[in-house]
Amino acid sequence: MAKIGLYPGSFDPITYGHIDIVKRALKIFDKLIILVSVNPNKTTLFSQEERIDMIKHELLECIDKISIITSKTLTVKHAKELGATHIIRGLRALTDFEYEFQMTHANRVLDKTIDSVFLMTDNKFSFLSSSTVKEIAAFQGDLTNFLPPYVKEKVMKKYQR
Ligand code: ADP
Repeated sequence: MAKIGLYPGSFDPITYGHIDIVKRALKIFDKLIILVSVNPNKTTLFSQEERIDMIKHELLECIDKISIITSKTLTVKHAKELGATHIIRGLRALTDFEYEFQMTHANRVLDKTIDSVFLMTDNKFSFLSSSTVKEIAAFQGDLTNFLPPYVKEKVMKKYQR
């Protein structure tokens, strides 16, 4: 039976950090479901459609192993319904830990059959977040090391003066 992982996130926008986690996860799982979240506590720069378009564009080489969905309910419910056994999350620094710790335990209470797997990115992406990217973009900084060209273009357009 194919081993399926569910990778949830805002992906606002997808960065080299996310791409690195996807590639690592595909060494463990046969298939990956990318769950593009709607977080009521977060306003996003990109619409869901735009975020999905960028994810598809950047993961074209492994698209046969990936499906992209938008979140409509709890992450664990999506996992269960779609046959994913694990939720995949990336870990950068210690600052990620507190939130991930809470989420993992909350998810476990909601459904003890779904476990979480944490992967660390390459060192060079360990400081990278979508928020950092947006802050740099707001000051017209160079995003070449953080974003693939297609995504970089889309971000710069949003911040065009
Ligand atoms: P969320 O709002 O769910 O945190 P993000 O898109 O910011 O959505 O992140 C989705 C997942 O990808 C999280 O687990 C996050 O820790 C991970 N992630 C994002 N950027 C990186 C990175 N540079 N290195 C490792 N993991 C990352």
